[in-house]
Amino acid sequence: MNNKLILDKIDKVFGDGDSSVKVLDKVSLQVKAGEFVAVVGPSGSGKSTLLSIAGALLSPTNGRIIIDDKDISKLPEKKMNRIRLEKIGFVFQSSNLIPYLTVRDQLLLISKLAGNHNKEAEKRADGLLQRLDLEHHSDSYPQSLSGGERQRVAIARAWMNDPEIILADEPTASLDSERGRTVVKMLADEVRLNEKAALMVTHDKRMLDLCDRVVYIEDGKLSEIPKGS
Ligand code: ADP
Ligand code: MG
Repeated sequence: MNNKLILDKIDKVFGDGDSSVKVLDKVSLQVKAGEFVAVVGPSGSGKSTLLSIAGALLSPTNGRIIIDDKDISKLPEKKMNRIRLEKIGFVFQSSNLIPYLTVRDQLLLISKLAGNHNKEAEKRADGLLQRLDLEHHSDSYPQSLSGGERQRVAIARAWMNDPEIILADEPTASLDSERGRTVVKMLADEVRLNEKAALMVTHDKRMLDLCDRVVYIEDGKLSEIPKGS
């Protein structure tokens, strides 16, 4: 099978005893290489929790996460960190850039963290900045950029480690619809061109035509929405 990412009967419970809340209830989902899946659902329904679990930022209470045929659910913290660095690219709602690093250094930080900072990494960073139309901002700091530019930097940074899995949590929330669409198109192009598997949480129905499938979460339960409905 060419499923890159498999979530198998994931439960997530926060807290314990009387105050515990089940946020995800037997959620199963498969994403193939080259597939771009949208996740929709009301606020508080567990979308961000699902993405955090898919990206090894958070452990599930029950269930398995399989990335590239490897079950990562029970790996020790150190190995999880490694998987995040090597296989996963996150794009969040706010770009989460580091204020005191230039645009180019935000990208190079990723290769430094992965321990593969070299000339190749610099070339890759410059190539990505060019591709995302940011090369004239290489030496700028985040505060001098527009919201759309910041989000493009966040994307370039997420591409830096050439991740197999892309996870985007409301990446267009702070953008107007035209800039939002440009950002989602960039995600879609990367998924198709380089055979990535991607999950994107969105509230914006106008973006759904750029995705291959839409899944819906409510009260922690996931269901598939047939395309076109
Ligand atoms: P969404 O992204 O769909 O808006 P979230 O996944 O952020 O929803 O949150 C789902 C539910 O889980 C919410 O009720 C939220 O309050 C709760 N929740 C999220 N993270 C935690 C946490 N660390 N501890 C306790 N409850 C949490
Ligand atoms: Mg959320």
